[in-house]
Amino acid sequence: MPSIKKFAAGSGTITSIYDGELLLGPEMFSGISDAEVTKCLANIGQTEGPVSGSLNAYLYQDGDKTILIDSGGKAAIPGTGQLLDGLKLASIAPRDIDMVLCTHLHPDHIGGLIDNGEAVFTNAELKVNEADREFWLNAENREKTPEDFKVFFDLAGAVLNAYQDRISTFIGEAEVVSGVNSVPLPGHTPGHSGFQIGDGENGLLIWGDIVHVQAFQMPQPKASIAFDVDSQTAVATRIAMFERASKERLRIAGMHLAHPGVGHVVARGDGFWLEPAHI
Ligand SMILES: [Zn+2]
Repeated sequence: MPSIKKFAAGSGTITSIYDGELLLGPEMFSGISDAEVTKCLANIGQTEGPVSGSLNAYLYQDGDKTILIDSGGKAAIPGTGQLLDGLKLASIAPRDIDMVLCTHLHPDHIGGLIDNGEAVFTNAELKVNEADREFWLNAENREKTPEDFKVFFDLAGAVLNAYQDRISTFIGEAEVVSGVNSVPLPGHTPGHSGFQIGDGENGLLIWGDIVHVQAFQMPQPKASIAFDVDSQTAVATRIAMFERASKERLRIAGMHLAHPGVGHVVARGDGFWLEPAHI
């Protein structure tokens, strides 16, 4: 069932949209021992994997701006694809979206942007990190990638092609649109980015894929998923993000945190923990 949650952020409103369920098992992770996995699973009352997680997308509305941040997985990922139903619950039609911000170009974040190779959001400008655009369009990178992952390049290419006349790119930390700044979070992909909307208590940092499985990577931030392009950098980025978020008590949102996926990072023992936000 589609599910949405609307709350104030920045000078507008955010709607968290549940796109579907993702199931990820411990075999997808490295940098975490079997004993640590067992402990993490026990914390959520499980003795074995996989672990059920959410796939979220976010809608930001501010004045006349209607901005979608990521698009869920649609046909690319079984069990997902409820974005359009969620937007409908929020009384938004695909033609109403005037901008799409991409945290990165993985299938569970861009699958919902196309339908049979055609753009779903016909009036939207697509904003993509330049490093991600370059990486996923590079034929040599595709060639070097194991067969199973080549489909990632194909889907990114298809999306960039469908929106080719209305793509703009950003680099590093930039104001991507008034009131929204990109935050470089490299490692998971070269251009993986968060988006900071407003600041202070009413602010929200949408951190993309800093976390894939909350139960593993919050207590064990060194646990990295097989999809990381550069897992060492991804681990360093995750730890730095957790430290900053807990020190500054940032309100954060994540695409794979339990829907609506909004909370505060709290340091606990050697690791971290997510305190859900009251929204
Ligand atoms: Zn993801």
